[in-house]
Amino acid sequence: MRAFSYVRPQTAAAAIEAFAAAGAGARYIAGGTTLYDLMKLDIEQPKHLIDVTAVQGMDAIEIRGDQLRFGALVPMSAIAADPGVLREYPVLAESLARAASQQLRNMATVGGNLLQRTRCLYFRNGAGGTSAGNTYPCNKRDPGSGCAAIGGADRGQAVLGQSASCTAVSPGDWPVALVALDAHVEVLGQSGARSIAVADLYRLPGKTPHREFELKQGEMITAIVVPKTPAGACSTYYKICDRESYAFALASAAVALEMDGGVVKQARIALGGVATVPWRATAAEASLAGRTLTPELALAAGHVAFADAKPGRDNGYKIELGARTVADALMIAAGRNAA
Ligand SMILES: Cc1cc2nc3c(=O)[nH]c(=O)nc-3n(C[C@H](O)[C@H](O)[C@H](O)COP(=O)(O)OP(=O)(O)OC[C@H]3O[C@@H](n4cnc5c(N)ncnc54)[C@H](O)[C@@H]3O)c2cc1C
Repeated sequence: MRAFSYVRPQTAAAAIEAFAAAGAGARYIAGGTTLYDLMKLDIEQPKHLIDVTAVQGMDAIEIRGDQLRFGALVPMSAIAADPGVLREYPVLAESLARAASQQLRNMATVGGNLLQRTRCLYFRNGAGGTSAGNTYPCNKRDPGSGCAAIGGADRGQAVLGQSASCTAVSPGDWPVALVALDAHVEVLGQSGARSIAVADLYRLPGKTPHREFELKQGEMITAIVVPKTPAGACSTYYKICDRESYAFALASAAVALEMDGGVVKQARIALGGVATVPWRATAAEASLAGRTLTPELALAAGHVAFADAKPGRDNGYKIELGARTVADALMIAAGRNAA
């Protein structure tokens, strides 16, 4: 690991100032569960770390008025176990409970979770850069070097949202649930505060896969805000992985339903594990509106969600797996309708 400076400011304003003073090469750090990993792999080389864990006012869960508000420093485990969230928004609690391990969830923050980087094997195994001669090309890690995953071992890669430069999957579970619920993040930077829809926080790879997030230099996430919806209680996060726990999604679906008896008034569906960004499945949502939900209709909606999917060499299985994941999630969520 390379040498770096470290500060731990007590206020958001001081953190922003510390970042600005440090200039290029500065990074915020919260739980450190992924940034330290990437530093050890030499994929991230920050010169200055601004530890935000002592910043006041960013660690509360508030469910009131017409929104849920989560401070960026709330540990993943706290929301996963919060009785109000579990009861009224199971999709949020489950997306966090199914991520990582209990130890990681205790350490990791919900702000840091949003900005974790891909687990693409070529991105992570190629530490050192192409100039070191010991690595695979990766446009995300080393812009312009190429993408070894295209035509390579791509079992874990995306089938939606890829480009000729990158097929890396967006790894987080929590952002998928947030996208389904139209959440936004509050951010603070040198030019003040603003809010960004979680769906807009993530950039499609296009020709610039190294530019992953719509954040300006030095902007810090302070909170995540979820508008209340009647669909919240009738929701689930359903995740399929190689192992039952402690593994990233091969396919996942966040589903929230507003039902009128057995008829779908409104469906919200987002996909994880299959796309380069948390993926809202709007056509699948529309295919359900006003119709009586049956297992057959749920599976048809799952297939609609993957109508534009493009498989690579080894990841074609994700299309049927993903469709069935959506179908199962729809039926699980619908089963909570009467609860
Ligand atoms: C073995 C393992 C398994 C995992 N499995 C899963 C899984 O199944 N599903 C899943 O979703 N995740 C999984 N994770 C990832 C884990 O959830 C993330 O590491 C964690 O959420 C990151 O949070 P953190 O607070 O530790 O972030 P950090 O490591 O501190 O930071 C992550 C990034 O966010 C930036 N950052 C942090 N806080 C802020 C802020 N407030 N404002 C602006 N920038 C900020 C940092 O600069 C850094 O770039 C796994 C991780 C490991 C190591």
